[in-house]
Amino acid sequence: MQILDGKITSQAIKDIIKGKVAALSAQGKRTPHLAAILVGNNGASETYVASKVKTCAEIGFESTLKRFPETINEAELLQVIDELNNDDAVDGILVQLPLPKHISEDKVIEAINPDKDVDGFHPVTTGRMVAGLPSFIPATPYGILLMLEHYKIETKGLHAVVIGRSNIVGKPMSILLSRNTYPGNCTVTTCHSATKNLKEMCLQADIIVAALGRPEFVKADMVKDGAIVIDVGITRVADATKKSGFAIKGDVAFNEVAPKCSYITPVPGGVGLMTIAGLMMNTYNAYMMRSK
Ligand code: NAP
Repeated sequence: MQILDGKITSQAIKDIIKGKVAALSAQGKRTPHLAAILVGNNGASETYVASKVKTCAEIGFESTLKRFPETINEAELLQVIDELNNDDAVDGILVQLPLPKHISEDKVIEAINPDKDVDGFHPVTTGRMVAGLPSFIPATPYGILLMLEHYKIETKGLHAVVIGRSNIVGKPMSILLSRNTYPGNCTVTTCHSATKNLKEMCLQADIIVAALGRPEFVKADMVKDGAIVIDVGITRVADATKKSGFAIKGDVAFNEVAPKCSYITPVPGGVGLMTIAGLMMNTYNAYMMRSK
């Protein structure tokens, strides 16, 4: 069994991007610029945005963090996005989700210029991805592809079972793994809350991508020997032994599942770190596309 280490892999990706950015600077060019929008004070969102901004600094990107109170209304937020769309110095725009209930996430996502859609959630981006055209890829599935590539894991012909069908993880992951590219070329089964025989499905899987948000849902008796297990889940579970008062749990019961796997991602230290690497790749690609 080999651990797919998100720390090592994301660092390798960040180093590659850092080298490219240094080369741009050496030529006197401006560097890629990511603008992040954060509404309200959700603790997890604060942490995610802070680490995105920190990573930008590490690799030499410019970043702008626009913070707004929970009370901002939809029209005001759409106005901010319009300004960023029209700002030539901004390459990528990300709006940290979730947004407060009184703001339509769909409207906000659709307002982002698809050329700056580095989160990869805009319907135009999704359409291009489904059609196999060059496109941004939602950051978490992108991070998983980068990880499979980094470890040179052969995926052609494998049966992948993706648990979850959200627009940001499960659905794009299923589409990407079924594409005729590397990593990909899998036979994909997408499972969700209405799937009747989930255990039987998982037992047939060469690759399981668990993205359902149910802590330690995937148990050893659901996994066949030698499977590749990718754990996307991140759930805060109360834990009095931690200073923070909570522990982060994945969707896979790691201790019992890991001995059966050929490869497995840990939580924390796996896919979460790769998501930021995917976002940074998208931002670099946005810059390159806009510089042409
Ligand atoms: P989501 O929007 O809540 O979607 C969950 C999906 O799982 C839905 O399609 C749902 O089915 C399915 N599901 C829920 N319970 C199920 C069950 N018992 N059996 C089978 N399928 C079930 O969640 P998400 O945004 O995709 O996120 C999933 C997890 O990944 C969460 O823990 C989240 O925090 C984490 N995440 C991590 C990263 C990262 O960077 N590592 C990034 C994004 C999300 P229905 O469609 O039928 O409701």
